[in-house]
Amino acid sequence: MANVLSSNLGYPRIGEKREWKKALEQFWAGKLEKEDFLATIKKLRLSYLKKQKDIGVDLIPVGDFSLYDHVLDTAVLFGLIPDRFNSGEKKISLETYYSIARGNKDSVASEMTKWFNTNYHYIVPEISNKTKPRVTENRLLTLFHEAKEELGIIGKPVIVGPITLLRLSKGYDEAHFQPLLDSLVPLYTQVLGELKEAGAEWVQIDEPILVKKSTKEDLAAFQKTYEALKNGVPGLKLLLQTYFEAVDNYEEVVQLPVDGIGLDFVHGKEANLRAIQSFGFPKDKVLAAGVIDGRNVWKADLTETLNELETLLGTAGEKDKLWITPSCSLLHVPVTVTNEEKLDPILKNALSFADEKLAEIVTLVKGLNEGKAAIEADLKKNSADIQALQQSEHRNNQEVQKELSRLGTELPARPGSYKLRQQVQADAFQLPILPTTTIGSFPQTKEVRLARRKYRKGEWSEEQYEQFVKDETARWIKIQEDIGIDVLVHGEFERNDMVEYFGEKLAGFAFTQFGWVQSYGSRGVKPPLIFGDVAWNGPMTVKESVYAQSLTRKPVKGMLTGPVTIYNWSFARNDISQSKVFNQIALALKKEVHALEEADIRMIQVDEPALREGLPLKEEKKAGYLYDAVYAFRLATSFVNNDTQIHTHMCYSEFDEIIDAIDALDTDVISIEAARSHGEMVSTFEDFEYKKGIGLGVYDIHSPRVPSVAEMKSSIERALQVLDPKIFWINPDCGLKTRKPEETIPSLKNMVEAAHEVRAELGDKVGK
Ligand code: GLN
Ligand code: ZN
Repeated sequence: MANVLSSNLGYPRIGEKREWKKALEQFWAGKLEKEDFLATIKKLRLSYLKKQKDIGVDLIPVGDFSLYDHVLDTAVLFGLIPDRFNSGEKKISLETYYSIARGNKDSVASEMTKWFNTNYHYIVPEISNKTKPRVTENRLLTLFHEAKEELGIIGKPVIVGPITLLRLSKGYDEAHFQPLLDSLVPLYTQVLGELKEAGAEWVQIDEPILVKKSTKEDLAAFQKTYEALKNGVPGLKLLLQTYFEAVDNYEEVVQLPVDGIGLDFVHGKEANLRAIQSFGFPKDKVLAAGVIDGRNVWKADLTETLNELETLLGTAGEKDKLWITPSCSLLHVPVTVTNEEKLDPILKNALSFADEKLAEIVTLVKGLNEGKAAIEADLKKNSADIQALQQSEHRNNQEVQKELSRLGTELPARPGSYKLRQQVQADAFQLPILPTTTIGSFPQTKEVRLARRKYRKGEWSEEQYEQFVKDETARWIKIQEDIGIDVLVHGEFERNDMVEYFGEKLAGFAFTQFGWVQSYGSRGVKPPLIFGDVAWNGPMTVKESVYAQSLTRKPVKGMLTGPVTIYNWSFARNDISQSKVFNQIALALKKEVHALEEADIRMIQVDEPALREGLPLKEEKKAGYLYDAVYAFRLATSFVNNDTQIHTHMCYSEFDEIIDAIDALDTDVISIEAARSHGEMVSTFEDFEYKKGIGLGVYDIHSPRVPSVAEMKSSIERALQVLDPKIFWINPDCGLKTRKPEETIPSLKNMVEAAHEVRAELGDKVGK
């Protein structure tokens, strides 16, 4: 009798109705006593375990649950805490834990950054050369006991592996890597030993770093580390887990001295399969096959997956050595579809969130163990649900598909070169050198949010709401004119969110009620679903832009969100390629750009703040992604007349890697974030001669601080050491919607003053 098992890698923390988030925030606000908080959290944690048990998962993770972030948990477990939070506590208190994550009145929080190519942000462990790792408290042991005692679950403890942990940490020199690892390994051994002692059979050690490029030395470190762990805890079975891509050195990785290897057969499918076919899979190890996508929200085609698994078994061997798992932790998807009450049933039936994905896994396992006949009804329903959406009108918009099929491979191009456009636009706009502008949004004050709420609840009529938005726009046009800004914006008061706003107006999008996913700490996002063919239903921004432009003689930028950002911040359909979805969105935006141009909006900004985060992990996939991204952007923007000025905005500063793609967007003006990393930014342009309009943010909008004229002047001057003043624009780092008016107005005044002073100093040095 075959004995395939189901295993989960991690369960979402946020809660079906965001109970976890709410508990954390109440505790932070002092509205929940620590004891009550911990009791609430425990209840939630147990309910998550129980749910997985009821669904029928064989290997249920423990320790994936967190009070904030699992990387922080692991760092704290091993005493890797920043010096400024180290008060000599033996056991790290909850207060210290949250101080590291969120800062306190004396010290700033640890940095956070994106977890590989996901939208989840982890707390970056800070290790100084002085840090002495130690076991502060074996939280995994506590959690293992809890699951066993309360629910009779023999959990599978999950821990971030030592090499991934160190590679994601900062603050130590490379020379300290090996000594740090040497001191961590015995501590991991201790933690694992205690788990073994308590009755754990398997432990899942996450080493996603293995999907990145690894050197000979890295692999040697893996060999040595896992030998030590394996020998250090005899009898405990180790599952080495990878995800988000194919492992980089398959042959070496599968030979590591562990009892099982977890591979991603969704995002690293081709390469992992190819490797298994060429090199085989060790007969003595468990293969944990991540075949259910942990990064999207769609039902898997179970019949197809089952066939693939059978082929895999043909090469990979024994059925008692196979686990079926999601491709990664389910942290990255919402909890359950069941609470959704407003979705079109055709769509709802084709969705699969964490709970449903686990049920799919359990079904697959049953099919493998008992034969296809045992799951025939499930397979039938599964294909019917998928087919229904496939065949629905949502995915069969003939017009969109015709337009899409007419696209060539050559990049769409502007009618005139940048040089020509620059001249035509200089004549058309008559801007001073170092023109000043902002990124788009102005403060979303209490009043603005209240107005939107009233409108949504039906307390305000559409006219009332629109009048409010108009008044707010007019007020801020006047403010910008008074400050003396050269290129104005309407302020985006009508928008809740830069993707949702467009998603609500375009065909092909849907919105869930409870589809929240943790972004960082207690913060969640509820990404739109791109489930059908995307189509333009009519103007989305023209009315607002035209109104704003009617109030001033200065140019007002039209403001759109770009195709790649809309894609990256949504859950996109996976039945057609990424580039096809990019292009569908781009074709819809193209119509909006056209409508703006027709309405005499002469500058149009198409924001792409999420272009970089979609960059694939694998080197060899990057160029393709960037080409598709550039193609879509140009499809949406490049058809305009030479005297229409196309802007874009990106809010991140590391873009050495994508600078060629940025240049290839062929925008007339780009604004990018730079205030917090001016040095790096400037050095990028030492190596790359950028010739088109560019604004490097001169002030950080993430802080309430009002920067002085002198500060902004000096950052302008530093930028002008590498960029020609004729192409330089002056703007803040990003949109101002999170700032208060009393921070925004003085900051912008200082920014304009700084521009004036630098202009005066440059004087005749810059000819017209
Ligand atoms: N135009 C947007 C704004 O100003 C851009 C936001 C962003 O870059 N994330 O709010
Ligand atoms: Zn931005």
